[in-house]
Amino acid sequence: MIDQFGRTINYLRISVTDRCNLRCQYCMPEEGVEKKKHRDILSFEEIDALVSKMAEMGVNKIRITGGEPLVRKNLTQLISMINRHESIREITMTTNGIYLAEHADALKSAGLKRVNISLDSLKPDRYQAITRGGDLSMVLKGIEAAKRVGLTPIKINVVLMKGINDDEIDDFVTLTKDEPIEVRFIELMPVGEDGHGSTQHYLSNTTVLDKYPNMKCLPKKDPSSPATYYQLPEYVGKVGLISPISGKFCEMCNRVRLSADGFLKYCLHSNEEIALKPLLKDEALLEHTLRRTVFMKPEEHQIDEGQFLNKHMVQIGG
Ligand code: SAM
Ligand code: SF4
Repeated sequence: MIDQFGRTINYLRISVTDRCNLRCQYCMPEEGVEKKKHRDILSFEEIDALVSKMAEMGVNKIRITGGEPLVRKNLTQLISMINRHESIREITMTTNGIYLAEHADALKSAGLKRVNISLDSLKPDRYQAITRGGDLSMVLKGIEAAKRVGLTPIKINVVLMKGINDDEIDDFVTLTKDEPIEVRFIELMPVGEDGHGSTQHYLSNTTVLDKYPNMKCLPKKDPSSPATYYQLPEYVGKVGLISPISGKFCEMCNRVRLSADGFLKYCLHSNEEIALKPLLKDEALLEHTLRRTVFMKPEEHQIDEGQFLNKHMVQIGG
């Protein structure tokens, strides 16, 4: 599928649930999150039917996300179903890692290739505060399990927040010293009206570069990757910078997103979406709608420092 700016769209992010076992301050309010009705959530068969059509039309990479994907029951079954499509080259997942240890083996066997784990602090109390209740030891066990079963290379996503976790930049970078881990710093996106979502905690990723003048920029292997990678001399792992605010990466964007209730978004940061569920019965109309929606993908997102989105769920970095 090609959009109006000539970009090839081959990457589909599937949100398998809107629910989450955590309440990260920058992502969800503590209480009063409106849950989608069970009957509106796409079944595995419906997701697989959409994947099948999009695979025919050129999608070859899938990322499973949420909410928290591992709160969806029998998720491994969906991964096995998607893995049967020969043209899907890669299935990956973004998770908070809390339930990863218990599912890592089954996920790997089902065909999951690797995981991105979101982890904003290596200090238990701070982690608990940022996530409003998360247990850091469970995430660390999840990371170990992912390494053991080969869901690698492991990518750790760290949302950088001024006055919250910017004193841990060194600790995160040190994780890349002896292991082939990719630690990716993500700029905080201004979401919601309160707390950590506000611009007061925004910190440009250039802060990381300023701390390490000897960090070398690596050539980009995948031009559509939102991250620019760096490496310190003698370090095995890499440091990635994902800078949606200070350095938009829309020009090479190759992705669209499917919500848990079957809406296709052509830009991850847009509120525009189109319902696909009613089209499942009419393959020709589904194909036509997919092609037209993808074609309309905007040139770039409109989030800037200081501007607020009116929806809580945004997704970047994978
Ligand atoms: N629950 C899973 C997780 O946390 O990895 C998957 C969904 S979560 C919405 C996906 C990613 O979006 C996470 O890495 C999270 O840190 C990031 N994210 C959420 N809200 C953000 C914000 N306001 N600014 C920057 N990144 C954000
Ligand atoms: Fe849940 Fe992920 Fe949002 Fe945190 S960032 S509240 S783990 S969906």
